[in-house]
Amino acid sequence: MSLLHDNDIKSLLRKYSVKPRKEMGQSFLNSQIIARQIVTSAEISQSDRILEIGGGLGILTNILAGVADSVTVIELEMGLVNALKDIFSESENVKIIHGDALTVDLPKFDKIVANLPYSISSEITFRLLKEAKFELGILMYQKEFSRRLLSSPGSSEYSRLSIDFQYLGKATHLMDVKARNFYPVPSVDSSVLKVIKRDTGPMAKNSEIFFWMVHGLYSYPNKQLRKAMKIWFKNLGRPNLADGLFSRLDDVNKTDRLRTLSLETLVRLSDVIQKLVESGDLPGPRGDSI
Ligand code: SAM
Repeated sequence: MSLLHDNDIKSLLRKYSVKPRKEMGQSFLNSQIIARQIVTSAEISQSDRILEIGGGLGILTNILAGVADSVTVIELEMGLVNALKDIFSESENVKIIHGDALTVDLPKFDKIVANLPYSISSEITFRLLKEAKFELGILMYQKEFSRRLLSSPGSSEYSRLSIDFQYLGKATHLMDVKARNFYPVPSVDSSVLKVIKRDTGPMAKNSEIFFWMVHGLYSYPNKQLRKAMKIWFKNLGRPNLADGLFSRLDDVNKTDRLRTLSLETLVRLSDVIQKLVESGDLPGPRGDSI
């Protein structure tokens, strides 16, 4: 199978009665060169089991099936599932699952390669990092979104998303892909990242407390830490706890803006918050809306 032109994509979409929908991220890669670059960057060996989310018309699937032990594709749109089943009817190592990648049982896999539907970028990334065991992911995101995943403390893109992601994973930028490399042409460019799970560096004693704290504080990323902490503690019904907290963290500058705090500082804060929860001074995340 070789999908090089928008016309091939159009006629397949017509054949399987698929009207591409923006809200389902249905823009299909029209460049074999880029598809090959994506697959090559996954350094796939013959024993690798690959998961692909959002198979579309199979431009990645086709190359993946040629180099991997097996490819499991999860695709939500029935018309595209029918297309993929026809296209790969003779490929014994390709399995197509009709379902929502956010809710179906994930198969066992070594690597994930996917041009993700942008509407579920965040949820699927966190699902993979929290629930699945895998060696690496080669994942395409909306460019702006990928910049938030990659951003460092101090930058204007450093946000709750960046922190949650960087607590669980590590990303490297591989390449940008122009909007014109898709049919229909989306309104934004994309970037491909290599994503692995993080297994070194600062880890909170209790990750649930860490995420709870980050969500509690980061509604206002431009606020000073001291002010954000006061607001959060007030919301938790403990307005006077904030000042005492900083006496346990002499080297943390309470006037620093949230946007500048490193993962290391946030982990130390989280460990102090955990002690407050353990001692009963602060109500914990359970029962609270996280
Ligand atoms: N892999 C193909 C390519 O590169 O041309 C298609 C990529 S397209 C950006 C995203 C695909 O994800 C579409 O085929 C869409 O139908 C599918 N999709 C959207 N939401 C999904 C979900 N929740 N679970 C699984 N697939 C989904």
